[in-house]
Amino acid sequence: MDYKKRALEIQDQIINNRREIHKNPELHFNLDKTLALVERELKSYGIEPKRVGKAGITALIGSGSPVVLLRGDMDALKMKEEMGLEFSSEIEACHSCGHDGHTSMLLAAGRMLKENEENLKGTVKLMFQPAEEILQGAKDMIENGVLEDPKVDAAFAIHLFPGEEYFKTGSIRIARGQFMSSGDVLVINIKGVQSHGSTPELGVDAIVVASHIVIGLQNILAREISMFDNCVVLVGKITGGATVNTTPGYATIELSARAVNEEKREFILSRIREIARGVAETFRAQVEINHPMGSASLYNNEDLVDDVLEFSKDIVGEENIKVVPMMAGTEDFAYIAQKMPAAMIHLGSGSTDEGYMYGIHSPLMTFNEEVLPIGASLLADLATKYLEKYSK
Ligand SMILES: [Zn+2]
Ligand SMILES: [Zn+2]
Repeated sequence: MDYKKRALEIQDQIINNRREIHKNPELHFNLDKTLALVERELKSYGIEPKRVGKAGITALIGSGSPVVLLRGDMDALKMKEEMGLEFSSEIEACHSCGHDGHTSMLLAAGRMLKENEENLKGTVKLMFQPAEEILQGAKDMIENGVLEDPKVDAAFAIHLFPGEEYFKTGSIRIARGQFMSSGDVLVINIKGVQSHGSTPELGVDAIVVASHIVIGLQNILAREISMFDNCVVLVGKITGGATVNTTPGYATIELSARAVNEEKREFILSRIREIARGVAETFRAQVEINHPMGSASLYNNEDLVDDVLEFSKDIVGEENIKVVPMMAGTEDFAYIAQKMPAAMIHLGSGSTDEGYMYGIHSPLMTFNEEVLPIGASLLADLATKYLEKYSK
């Protein structure tokens, strides 16, 4: 099937689905309206949706092996939209990461693959994922079996990227190997001893301890990580104390850490814990360290990237494909990529030259909807060509 042509024929539907999702953004695992839309659309294409985990949907097209997975995420961010579009969200949530586009592209890819089902040389598994923004959705779906029965052999995902100078609509970029950094959030609770401000010797000042921990953490990047390994340890929030004239009995440090690969990730996380515990012990305080959120770094399988470079020429044109070095930013598709050959592709969806001035996670972000049929046909085409190449 000529997916590029077919996607243009059904582009009104792709855009309408995107706008309906955009107008009703939902957060985390609370995706009732979005899930209902995905199920409604899949059923109307003759595809049987199945719920997986807390708020995921999967569906199969074709039969037999190999099995290739296409993933689209569905959740929005907690922020007030400022785009002022006719289909803008009016609540305190906003599709400023383009996941509305990812969902509508995956739906359209599903529809086209279903129409072409008899020519598929294996199975396509669709994965509509919740809670990417809190880095929990992929894990939840994996734990609930999305990669099994039938067992998935390889996976593809696309992320839209508007608002960059040289990344025009319909061009793609991909890294061979390490693509995106890990991202973790740690919360360090420091327990000191409160005392009257006139008798500090009777207390343990948790704010002073927190300050020493913050300084101590700087040493990880300054002296323990090579200049060639790009990592971040950032204390983004610090709170503590009760009143101006009381020795602070508690303080909390909230920090984010990003690492260039899994080895460095483990190293940084363990050094943060060691430094926090060691400093606290030195100053007679206690610490409790929580790890509420985190995602592995994303690794694109080299052979599969070579396939993407070959397969995607027909849809986006060879001149619009760029192999790039690793980038900052975190993506929980990483958990799928830890289990099998996987490749994430970034799809340009409106450069600054084209008038799209804001990037993802900005409340002003918009993207060029002309990218939607391109992304949909790219997903369908990648899956079809993968099955053709790897069927026995
Ligand atoms: Zn995002
Ligand atoms: Zn995203």
